Amino acid sequence: MYPESPTASPARLSLRQTGSPGMVYSARYGSPKRQLQFYRNLGKSGLRVSCLGLGTWVTFGGQITDEIAEQLMTLAYENGINLFDTAEVYAAGNVPFFFFFFFCRRSSLVITTKIFWGGKAETERGLSRKHIIEGLKASLERLQLEYVDVVFANRPDPNTPMEETVRAMTHVINQGMAMYWGTSRWSPMEIMEAYSVARQFNQIPPICEQSEYHMFQREKVEVQLPELFHKIGVGAMTWSPLACGIISGKYDSGVPAYSRASLKCNVLCMMLFMLYVQHICCSSPAWCLRNEGVSSVLLGASSTDQLMENIGAIQVLPKLSSSIVHEVDSILGNKPYSKKDYRS
Ligand code: NAP
Repeated sequence: MYPESPTASPARLSLRQTGSPGMVYSARYGSPKRQLQFYRNLGKSGLRVSCLGLGTWVTFGGQITDEIAEQLMTLAYENGINLFDTAEVYAAGNVPFFFFFFFCRRSSLVITTKIFWGGKAETERGLSRKHIIEGLKASLERLQLEYVDVVFANRPDPNTPMEETVRAMTHVINQGMAMYWGTSRWSPMEIMEAYSVARQFNQIPPICEQSEYHMFQREKVEVQLPELFHKIGVGAMTWSPLACGIISGKYDSGVPAYSRASLKCNVLCMMLFMLYVQHICCSSPAWCLRNEGVSSVLLGASSTDQLMENIGAIQVLPKLSSSIVHEVDSILGNKPYSKKDYRS
């Protein structure tokens, strides 16, 4: 199931030399190679992605060193994760993927990027044909890749006609710069519009939406996206399963040093204080995956121990019986209902 790699690769050697306990063996979760045992199709496309993916927002290029970044990617890959999420705006697009090619094949990876904010100039933002093509070209150069597997439109752009965005996404796919495209933070209506425009003009429709999903943010992924999945095949790749770390319980007695909330980022700090801080458990990625409409959950981690813990949490998944899920729902008290539920 896992692509084999030569043992003498620089990344593996450096990990073994650091003796990271999570890397070779985790007493709590067992042998890392046994952690992640399944893959799901991304929406109704044929692309198979690991049900957990590794994201690079906040952590890469700022909070952690390149060495830790390499360790996280290697640890993820060795545990069966094939999905790695980037954006032109994360770490200015500088995620060190090239080291990967010392020890694995490009075809065994699913690498994504997101286009919207490329620079300060008016022409370097948004979803115009110009910015999609230039932004993706620049991202590929920084990532040292020939193509990404999925390119996402990182926000809806009210200033660009939908037809222009859909045609530009189709163009980059036809040029071999990407294999598929998706949306991020789009409303169901906007996704439906993109799909209809693509069908009307014989262009390529999006295959998936990136959406926030955790115990305190449920409506879109549990009610709105399943309808889109059934009607037009758009799947869900979800993010922030721990609500930026809040659900891990680490903030129960204040803000720990070096945590995300201690970074000088007012928006995040405000978010942390506004949210209802409650420690439920670190198995939140598994809770997200109990929803079969979710193709993959994007994890964030600032250390190999965190990543190991989050990957290990997937072992809870088979234990999430409907009675336990129901119990969690009644504790949370925020289960969203669809129109269908009201009818029955
Ligand atoms: P998250 O899992 O909600 O938060 C990750 C952060 O929580 C870590 O960086 C770490 O921060 C803390 N953490 C993680 N595991 C922990 C553990 N076991 N114990 C204690 N603390 C733990 O995920 P996220 O980083 O917000 O999002 C994941 C990915 O989704 C991103 O990297 C990005 O690729 C994607 N994303 C996409 C969008 C979009 O608009 N499309 C938006 C946001 C994110 P500290 O150690 O610093 O506290």
